[in-house]
Amino acid sequence: MGLNRAHIALGGNLGDVKQTFIQARSELNAVGGVKLLKSSKLYRTRPVGPAGQPDYLNAVIEIETSIKPDTLLTLLHRIEDAHGRIRAEQWGARTLDLDILTYGDIQIDGEALTIPHLMISKRMFVLCPLCDVDSNWQHPLLKVTAEQMMNQLIASGEPPLPEGERW
Ligand code: ADP
Ligand code: MG
Repeated sequence: MGLNRAHIALGGNLGDVKQTFIQARSELNAVGGVKLLKSSKLYRTRPVGPAGQPDYLNAVIEIETSIKPDTLLTLLHRIEDAHGRIRAEQWGARTLDLDILTYGDIQIDGEALTIPHLMISKRMFVLCPLCDVDSNWQHPLLKVTAEQMMNQLIASGEPPLPEGERW
């Protein structure tokens, strides 16, 4: 299906998350048919979901890939598993979460895979790092850019994230 630009969200709040992200990024880049283009800054964020969890780290990477979306999701799940991801409760604590945010101009609304990711417009911890790597990315259906979505979220009262760090 040719080469496509895609954005992958990284999240985690158990273990040495920064080190896990660094490893996951290079593991992904080492896969044939995946090339890392850009990394966002790394943000420390408050947990959403079950209370009493440690803070999260969140980031977004931009890749160029020839791997089709469902195969890419399987690959991401393999990398999550290799880093000790255990699926317990929804939005519960985890070592590593890898989500496909965008994939070219593709729209998928399936059982196991929705692209663009449903939470893009609602989560500051997704929008802020996405804006680092591609603030002009435009939602193929909503025709709104990442930057516009972030400004809408800020206008609705959501505070922007504190400054991130390089990783
Ligand atoms: P979270 O919602 O916190 O990311 P999981 O990582 O356990 O929770 O994901 C739950 C399910 O979400 C996965 O099994 C996957 O099939 C589905 N899913 C749907 N769309 C996507 C996407 N764009 N990226 C990653 N997972 C997705
Ligand atoms: Mg996930």
